[in-house]
Amino acid sequence: MISVHEALSQLFALVSPLETEPIDLREGTGRVLATAAHATRAQPPFDASAMDGYALAQGDVAEGAKLTVIGEAPAGHGFQGRVGPGEAVRIFTGAPLPTGTDHVEIQENVARDGDAITLLSPQPAGANVRKAGTDFEVGEAVAAPRILGAADIALLAAMNVPKITVTRRPEVALISTGDELVMPGEDPRLDQIIASNALGLEALLSAHGALPRVLPIAKDTAESLNSAFRFARGADLVVTIGGASVGDHDLVRPVAAEHGLRPSFYKVAIRPGKPLTAGRLGTTPMLGLPGNPVSALVCGHVFLLPMVRVMLGLPARPAERMSAPLAHDVPPNGPREHYMRAVVDGSGLRVFNRQDSSLLGVFAEANALAIRPASDPARAAGETLSYLPL
Ligand code: AMP
Ligand code: MG
Repeated sequence: MISVHEALSQLFALVSPLETEPIDLREGTGRVLATAAHATRAQPPFDASAMDGYALAQGDVAEGAKLTVIGEAPAGHGFQGRVGPGEAVRIFTGAPLPTGTDHVEIQENVARDGDAITLLSPQPAGANVRKAGTDFEVGEAVAAPRILGAADIALLAAMNVPKITVTRRPEVALISTGDELVMPGEDPRLDQIIASNALGLEALLSAHGALPRVLPIAKDTAESLNSAFRFARGADLVVTIGGASVGDHDLVRPVAAEHGLRPSFYKVAIRPGKPLTAGRLGTTPMLGLPGNPVSALVCGHVFLLPMVRVMLGLPARPAERMSAPLAHDVPPNGPREHYMRAVVDGSGLRVFNRQDSSLLGVFAEANALAIRPASDPARAAGETLSYLPL
C-alpha cells in the first residue's frame, strides 16, 4: 500500500498536457489559457474623463474662475478643436479629454449661465482624469496557464483579444461496473441499486474543464467489461468504477490486464478509497476507482481532478488545501490518510459523526473534506486542521 503522496506522483507520471486549440473568447469561461494573450489596445486608450462635468486646463483651476464653454464631448464623440486658456468643454464620463485640457471639474461644483461657467469650489488640479493606459498598456499580457473566469474574459475583451488559445478538454470515459446497477430513471429490481457514481463524477469533471463520457454500465462478466474497454478507446483517460477489489466478481484488473494494462499501483493508504488502482492501457492512462459512492467521489477530488489539471496544462499539484481550527475534539486517526466529510463555517471545522463510505447524504451536506494525516494523534478543539474545500 502506497501513500496518497506517492500515488499522486505516479498518477502525474501517467498524464501529460494535451494539445491546444484556438477558440472564440466567448467560449473561454472555465477553459485553461494555453498561451499568453497580449493587449492590442491600451485601456483607457486616451486620457478619459472619470466624471460628468467640464474639461479645462489645470492652469485655469481657481475658486471663482470664469470660463467659456466652447463645445461638448459625450462618450464616443471626442471634441475635435483645441481648448485655449479661459475655455472649457462640457464633458461626460468616458469621453476623451480635449486637446489643451488636463482637468475635469464635476458639474456639481460649477455654476452655469448660458456659455459661461464659474468654478465654485474646484477640486485639486488634474482631478477626475483617467490617464491613458492606467488599466493596461498595449502589449500587456495575461499569462498562461490560467483558468479563465469572468474577470479574465472581461479583461481579454477590453484588450480587444477576440480569439484565444486554450488546452483541449480531456475526454474522460467513465465505466460503471456491477450486475446490481441500473441507470437513474430506470425501474430497479429490489436487489438492484442506482449507478450514481458515474453521474457524480460526470458533474465533477464537467465543472473542472473535462469532457466526461458516461459509457453503458458493464456487467460483472469478462465479456461485458471487454466491450466497455473497447467503447472507451479514443478517450484521453479511462476511469473504471467498482470491481477493483479481490472478490470473485471484481474483474476490472484481470480484464484490463487482457487489454494490456501496465499497472502503476494497487491500493493506497487513504480512507475512504483504499482499493484504488491505476496504470497505462496501451498509451492511455487508466484510473480504477472504488465502487462505494463516497470513495469514488473522494478519489475524484483527491486523484482524478489533479490528473485532469495536468492534462489541461496546469501544474502537477495535489488538490488545493486550506486550513481551519477544529470546532471540537477528534480522536486519533488510524494508519490511512482520512478524508472526512465536514462543514467549515465561522465556528470552525466540524466533522460529521457518520463517515461510512456509502453515505452520500452526508457528502451532500458537507462543504469540506477534513484531512487527518496517517496516524495523526488526537486533536483538541481549536487546533488547526487541513481540509479540501468542496
Ligand atoms: P465494488 O467495488 O464493485 O465491490 O462496489 C462497492 C460498492 O459500491 C457496492 O456496494 C456497489 O454496489 C457500489 N457501487 C459500485 N459501483 C457503483 C456505482 N457506479 N454507483 C453507485 N454505487 C456503486
Ligand atoms: Mg462491483
